[in-house]
Amino acid sequence: MEGFSRQEIFDYQVRTRPSIWAQFHTKLRGKPYRFEQLNPDGSLDLRKPFQISPQEQNIGLRGQRQFLQQMLDDQHPYKSEQKSRQCGASENEVREVLWFADTHPYSSIVYVFPTFDQVADFSKTRIEEVMRESPHVKSRMGYDPKTGKKKQGEDPVDNVRLRKMGDNSWLYFRSGSTPKAGEGIPCDVVVFDEIDRMAPNVMIAFNETLSSSAYGWRRDVSTPSLPGVGVNASFKDSDQQHWFMKCPHCGHWTTMIHDFPKGIEQLTVDRHDRPNHNLHLVYDWVQGSDRYIYICLKCKRPISDEMRINGTWQPLYPHRDRIRGYQISQLMCPWISASQLMQKKADYKLEQLFMNYVIGLTYLGDNIMVSKGDILRCCDTSLTNPYDLRRDRVCLGVDWGNTSWGIAGMPHPDNPSKVIILDIWDVKDEEAVTTDGRKNNPHITRTADKMRQWDARRGVFDAGYGKDRNWELMQVFPGKVFSCFYPNLSTTSTKNVDDQWSEDDAKVNVDRTLALKLMARAFREGLFVIPAWVVLNPLFETFFIKHLTNIVLIRDIEEDEKTKKEIITERVGCMPGGDHFAHAANYLSIALRKITKSGGGGDFWV
Ligand SMILES: [Zn+2]
Repeated sequence: MEGFSRQEIFDYQVRTRPSIWAQFHTKLRGKPYRFEQLNPDGSLDLRKPFQISPQEQNIGLRGQRQFLQQMLDDQHPYKSEQKSRQCGASENEVREVLWFADTHPYSSIVYVFPTFDQVADFSKTRIEEVMRESPHVKSRMGYDPKTGKKKQGEDPVDNVRLRKMGDNSWLYFRSGSTPKAGEGIPCDVVVFDEIDRMAPNVMIAFNETLSSSAYGWRRDVSTPSLPGVGVNASFKDSDQQHWFMKCPHCGHWTTMIHDFPKGIEQLTVDRHDRPNHNLHLVYDWVQGSDRYIYICLKCKRPISDEMRINGTWQPLYPHRDRIRGYQISQLMCPWISASQLMQKKADYKLEQLFMNYVIGLTYLGDNIMVSKGDILRCCDTSLTNPYDLRRDRVCLGVDWGNTSWGIAGMPHPDNPSKVIILDIWDVKDEEAVTTDGRKNNPHITRTADKMRQWDARRGVFDAGYGKDRNWELMQVFPGKVFSCFYPNLSTTSTKNVDDQWSEDDAKVNVDRTLALKLMARAFREGLFVIPAWVVLNPLFETFFIKHLTNIVLIRDIEEDEKTKKEIITERVGCMPGGDHFAHAANYLSIALRKITKSGGGGDFWV
């Protein structure tokens, strides 16, 4: 770098490398923002967080976090970070957007969160915390860093949803609770923080505006949930960078994550179940109280914190360069010991939460609500002729879309706690026919045909997509057509809410999670009866089974708004490939629940 002064080189680094910018300009809870902590002699400072006294102001929080540095400096247009909780990735992401706003004049950045509350929380606490501790950021947002008052000639914009920074750069904070979050915002960078908890397809609205930007950066950051969904949808298509660590004894490379739970060894205990090993006498990074240690799977020798610190990012699929993926796990956080990790496994109780939050991997396991075997056990091929059955209290459930999916069913004549599925069908946009220069709406005409064909008493229809369609059907079948609303996406697992019918308004409010769970249970318990003619319908094998086996129960831990206590919530998610017949079956169940309740049905539906 001939011809440049040291200061010029430093300034250049601060501007071009977010990790240098973050260390130079920001703090983390009063401590320096650091990736590496060295002793005066240049060796790694390997003290545990609790061994560092609060007086040592110049020590970064959590000591060593080398794995976060390259991720932050990586300026790939599309990064996907599949992460565990409490690994520092979100703090990194905040700094990336602030650095971008600071160093890219006239840019606009959108930060998206699952809910409005989280938007406000983040904007108020995280951003303001960085501002409070950074004279530079404060000044670039238009305030005098000393007095805290607005600078002369500046007009700071810093409300919860919009902040101005640097040279006319804008930071938007938005909720991803509806797919429309991105409409009408120009953006150069969009960050989806906790993308797995947002409305599906929330990213679509952003794609248009990103593609017209000179940058078009996108960041998916989340603890994962299901395979192929949310952050995992982009991560699995990425180059999949893993933190590879090398055994100092035998040279074996490992990611830990691929071997988990192998690679963790339980230490010996005495007959009172107290740790009884002498490893702490040999290795200074093992505590006498430790119950577990990390070991190399090849040579079986213990793995030190230092080995985990000295990892290196390597892609599993280097040729997949469209998306840069980073897998982050608490297994590679040197400040979390094997004993602490296994204690979390015991505390979380639910395998899914531990795998998602601590290990940072997707989880399917026991979360599938209906299996193919459950559905096949519901088939009764001795029922071969629909005209043998007397039609009684037939109901319809329809999930609207560009393709709509419908199911008709009625209480079983021989067993009122069971339901016979009479018909399944789909309707496509392309089925529209033009007569006298006018196009009909096949979704409405075909559904009306089904109402008449089965002499349906009541139909429950998707309210989200089908407002106009529902209104038209109501004109033809007054008192029989109802729109189904889901006020909440997720539910605390202990709540029990009845369907709220409003006959006058032709609508029903339903607890989405609970209703889908009841519907799924009905399949598992064989309360749906599927006759031969439905089994023979080509849609049965290709879509019906697929959609129903695609719905999955996902649990999350959230903080209760009022009590501030952690509560487990449940929501129903969908695996790639659609879940439309599951929702149609749910609408049908809602209708039947109502009709059998007031008509002496079985007790299951209550
Ligand atoms: Zn080894």
